[in-house]
Amino acid sequence: MEARLSHATIHSDFVKKVEELSGQDLLACYQCGKCSAGCPIVEEAEILPSQVLRLVQLGQRDDALHSKTIWLCASCYTCVSRCPRGVDLSKIMEALRQIVLRKNLDHVKVSELSRKEMAKLPPIALISNFRKFTG
Ligand code: SF4
Ligand code: SF4
Repeated sequence: MEARLSHATIHSDFVKKVEELSGQDLLACYQCGKCSAGCPIVEEAEILPSQVLRLVQLGQRDDALHSKTIWLCASCYTCVSRCPRGVDLSKIMEALRQIVLRKNLDHVKVSELSRKEMAKLPPIALISNFRKFTG
């Protein structure tokens, strides 16, 4: 993952949007990692929750939005209770998901699923993969 840093990326509309949607001060995080140390989904994640936050701080939009971690986050609030800086990382994860969902992209194309695959899937698995028209 190669970071492309500039004044423009760090002060980008993306960073402002995440701050607006989450209501969090991104720069309050000093990357201590306590949130990631207690997070139940880290074994499945390719990057740690604190690293997702670091990507957002640095305005690395594409890397943050393409991270699997934002979808694995279970909104369990363990990170929130552990953070010495009062950062609500679960709200930042939700803000990132909202930014993706507002692009109206479906994660599963029903037309590309076979009848066999459809029959195996519980309806809720499909519904949760459809876009939400949240904004
Ligand atoms: S616990 Fe708080 S300050 Fe530490 S890395 Fe996580 S969000 Fe940042
Ligand atoms: S709210 Fe999300 S990021 Fe925070 S500890 Fe729970 S699963 Fe991990």
